[in-house]
Amino acid sequence: MRLDRFISKTTRESNRQIRIWIQDGQVWVDGQPCLDGTRRVTEFSQIRCNGIDLPCKRAQYWLMNKAAGVLSATRDPEHRTVIEELAAQQPELVLNEIHIAGRLDRASTGLLILTNDGNWSKRLTRPEIKIPKTYLVTTANPINPDTGARFAEGIHFPYEGITTSPAQLTQLSPHQARLTIYEGKYHQIKRMFGVFRNPVVALHRERMGEIVLEPELAPGGCRPLSRQEIDWL
Ligand code: URA
Repeated sequence: MRLDRFISKTTRESNRQIRIWIQDGQVWVDGQPCLDGTRRVTEFSQIRCNGIDLPCKRAQYWLMNKAAGVLSATRDPEHRTVIEELAAQQPELVLNEIHIAGRLDRASTGLLILTNDGNWSKRLTRPEIKIPKTYLVTTANPINPDTGARFAEGIHFPYEGITTSPAQLTQLSPHQARLTIYEGKYHQIKRMFGVFRNPVVALHRERMGEIVLEPELAPGGCRPLSRQEIDWL
């Protein structure tokens, strides 16, 4: 939203008064005076207006090493959820607006991002933005030699009527490969290997764009994203 509109909505002051504050240098955004009323701000921007701090939300960005068996959901009658995991480790957090940016299946493990910043998470997960996501895949049967070439062409999913973006497969051993995909369709990787009738027995997400899960983070552990990891997107 524009800075002048944001101030008007929050303070209910007249547009004329707001223009005067802005022209007089009485409006600060994130610690700097701002003379441009059209500047884009968000609910997380720290805005000081005529000496008063307007209320703002604290942006939250968490990385979790999701453990197997934990559900990518807020609440569930049967299974423990990632939001409950985060709450157990960070009891002071206000969790009601935190959502998952790119779910993992219950059995899958690895990099999961939790945030309350909807604009940021949309950029991470929107298929048209094509953020690469890299997984370590273990299969029940030896990986068919044609798999890499077929994934690079794209796999047609008749149910959605789509073809997946060209994906890169690097085979590591007969049953293990590293795969980079660019969308997050329902059970995407299992369905891609399903074309070869090769069940996926373990799936671990290692990376989303520039955000990399460090091997030292224990399953179930979480940490805040660094400024660099947030700003990269
Ligand atoms: N693809 C899947 O099949 N499962 C996941 O959890 C992630 C990608």
